[in-house]
Amino acid sequence: MSDQITIGVLALQGDYDAHRQTLSLLGVRSVLVRKPEELDDIDGLVIPGGESSTFLKFLDREGFLAKLRDFVSQKPAFGTCAGAILLAKEVRNPTQESLGILDIAIQRNAYGRQIDSSIMTGPTKLDGPPLEMVFIRAPRIERTGAGVEVLAEREQHPVLVRQGKILAATFHPELSSDTRVHELFVNMVREQEKPRVQVTR
Ligand code: GLN
Repeated sequence: MSDQITIGVLALQGDYDAHRQTLSLLGVRSVLVRKPEELDDIDGLVIPGGESSTFLKFLDREGFLAKLRDFVSQKPAFGTCAGAILLAKEVRNPTQESLGILDIAIQRNAYGRQIDSSIMTGPTKLDGPPLEMVFIRAPRIERTGAGVEVLAEREQHPVLVRQGKILAATFHPELSSDTRVHELFVNMVREQEKPRVQVTR
């Protein structure tokens, strides 16, 4: 079916399997991405939570980071937690390399040791009731550029943001049964795929 999209889940480390399960619940085909060339066969990419510095170590081979940068400049990407850190333009605590596609400044491990992991339910701009949000050693978004839409906040800091075809959450929607954030991303990928412009390389 031409309308069938394939979403890749970066599976170098972290909780990629939970994302796959949510996508499968939504009836979306997904594949695990472990090698740079696997980015060629997908319409959108989920970058899961984990440890962003460890991701960077794994990406530092076979031109993976450069290829990923190229991918996110052209196709939809959705980063959760460490994934959001990787997408950000500016990473603090400490400064670290990133894909630099999402115009935010983000501080790693920003909530301190005691409250570093928590679950809260709050309003969002998504249709429907307040959303459960699971935070695990979460980063905090400290600046958003003009093109960034804030879809949810925690204590006046954005926790779910969108800039065009890039979506990022500082929490873990894949760990809640509510699938609305993934549905939003799936719709973003479908939107992008609609005209089916074939890119020849
Ligand atoms: N603390 C992690 C980091 O800085 C992110 C935590 C997570 O993804 N749950 O990369």
